[in-house]
Amino acid sequence: MSLDLLLRRARLPRASRLQDIGIASGRIAAPAGEAREVIDLDGSLVTPALVEPHIHLDAVLTAGEPRPNMTGSLFEGIAIWSERVKSLTVEEVKARVRTVLRWQLANGVLHVRSHVDVCDPELRALRGLVELRQEVGDQMDIQLVAFPQQGIYSFDGGESLMRKAAEMGADVVGGIPHFELTREYGERSIRFAMELAAEHGRMVDIHCDETDDDQSRFLEVMAAETIRLGLTGRVTASHTTAMHSYNNAYAYRLINNVKRAGLHMVTNPLDNSVLQGRFDSYPIRRGHTRIKELLAAGVNVSLGHDSVMDPWYPLGYADPLQAAFVLVHFAQMSGQSELETLFDMITTRPAEALGISNYGLSEGDPADLVVFAAPSEMDALRLIAPRRFVLRGGRIVSRTQPGQTTVTWDGKEEPVDFLKGKGTRDGR
Ligand SMILES: [Zn+2]
Repeated sequence: MSLDLLLRRARLPRASRLQDIGIASGRIAAPAGEAREVIDLDGSLVTPALVEPHIHLDAVLTAGEPRPNMTGSLFEGIAIWSERVKSLTVEEVKARVRTVLRWQLANGVLHVRSHVDVCDPELRALRGLVELRQEVGDQMDIQLVAFPQQGIYSFDGGESLMRKAAEMGADVVGGIPHFELTREYGERSIRFAMELAAEHGRMVDIHCDETDDDQSRFLEVMAAETIRLGLTGRVTASHTTAMHSYNNAYAYRLINNVKRAGLHMVTNPLDNSVLQGRFDSYPIRRGHTRIKELLAAGVNVSLGHDSVMDPWYPLGYADPLQAAFVLVHFAQMSGQSELETLFDMITTRPAEALGISNYGLSEGDPADLVVFAAPSEMDALRLIAPRRFVLRGGRIVSRTQPGQTTVTWDGKEEPVDFLKGKGTRDGR
């Protein structure tokens, strides 16, 4: 069999040896036989396509509109968004999202789950994103979550907007129980969202307990409802920052139930590192979910970007690796195997949460690949390394020429590449 492309000397995640990757008919193939094109990767790290499990595309690139968030707080962000939302149009949403989809593609992201605010009687943002999902076609896969930013029972007509969103083609049903007016509304909103998903054969992804309030305990309701409705494997809980503040006995029981229900978890370090702990005097809590404990219990935890230049988070360029870099510090995941786990949290783990089939680096998998300008996971994270190539179905869909730096040293100009020798994993 002849190959369309042969990638020579690639370094796969956790591998110490280099290997060749063949590509034929858009899929990964044995690296044998003639190849129409050969690229020597010289030891570059190659992973499957990155997966973004949590972003709010409808709000991207709105920072400063109609006014900047002066405190940086969640609540000022929500107030500003409620003003900005009035000027949304389908075309304006699509124009902003198109820009960020290109950024994601350049960063190696080929699968995206976006929450979309449906607290809008006209559902403008959702209409725009449903159109875009179609227009993007085979280039990227987009899942849309019907996300009731202002609550299902705390916003006029919330229930019917959620139903409409599901009928319009939202792939996933969302919720925000901790933001509802009462505890009872919150519980009811979870039951409603789960039943709506069960009825329409959809998945569930709920913003859950995104607060520092240790009395916010909706995750246990999600676990119980998942078990009751038989939705195991189709339900994701996002944020769950209150878990940081629970007592250890409660957290232990909760994590066991999360595992039993088979919930997927998504943590969003960029937003939550700046939004949580805002009511604390010193010491200030980190306000993050218990990532290490969840992972140790065998729970599937993924890493999301959440915001790109919106009222809640003014920075970012839609690169999951930047979010992973922050999580190294914020969750103290600096151990060697933890750095490798962080790569799973932007690739294989969110692929499982999103239900993506045929994903990976085995022969026969789609050749959706990312080539990093770095020899190892550690170097890629350390340098937030550029993506030299991104491949979709075996075709190169993005190229980055890494920058070249020189220093003048002892009167001579020398190149600097910020790498220790030729790579750090095996001291090659
Ligand atoms: Zn979010």
